[in-house]
Amino acid sequence: MRILVSNDDGIHAAGLKALIQSLKGLGEIFVAAPDRERSATGHGITVDRPLRIKTVRMPVEVAHAWAVDGTPADCVKLAVDDLLPAPPDLVVAGINQGPNLGTDVLYSGTVSAAIEGVINGFPALAVSLASYDSRDFSIAGRFVREIVPLILKNKLPRNTLLNINVPPGPPRGRRITRLGSRRYVNIFHKRTDPRGRVYYWMAGEPLDLIDENNCDTDVGAINEQCISITPIQLDLTDYHALDRVRDWLTNLPEAEE
Ligand code: MN
Repeated sequence: MRILVSNDDGIHAAGLKALIQSLKGLGEIFVAAPDRERSATGHGITVDRPLRIKTVRMPVEVAHAWAVDGTPADCVKLAVDDLLPAPPDLVVAGINQGPNLGTDVLYSGTVSAAIEGVINGFPALAVSLASYDSRDFSIAGRFVREIVPLILKNKLPRNTLLNINVPPGPPRGRRITRLGSRRYVNIFHKRTDPRGRVYYWMAGEPLDLIDENNCDTDVGAINEQCISITPIQLDLTDYHALDRVRDWLTNLPEAEE
């Protein structure tokens, strides 16, 4: 079995090393990860310049590891298209330092690496440690080791990936969740540079962890110190809105056509 591993924290990130260790013995591990941190690059791809790759020696043994000077989506796309000797059986992204919850999955490079796997027809999961402080990836790693054989045995629906968030510290349970919503406050810090020009720095603090009471969401699960497992599908179509929008057009007066 071949497992393609990627992330958005960069090829030298501690979470990537922990992920590889957790997958040890489950198959041949190939790594294609950004050569530097590319968090919050979403599903961006690089089309305005060439992509350079470099073979990297990892601190843990793998079949091959490439550092790519592109985004997480670039890494997975390039790996399955050209770098790997054969198609992967699974794509795993992470273990991200920090949560990837709710609407933030749209900004996440980690989730995008997994999405790129699914776009290319391979089962995929994204794993995040829901803390920026904890360096203990062991519980997340153990959970990966447990769930990977389940994914391979039971199969995920086509075009579906799993987004997994693991709380810091001992989990109080596991929840199958839907995506919650994250709201931020104080998003932009406005300052003046040494030359007197105004600049903005996007930062912000999430509000949801305080007032999200809905237990069936990923945000709620992490708030309750539970491991959150969210199946995510690629199709963003709002099927409930199809008829409504169709009605707008069909009910237009003739004169306006
Ligand atoms: Mn990251």
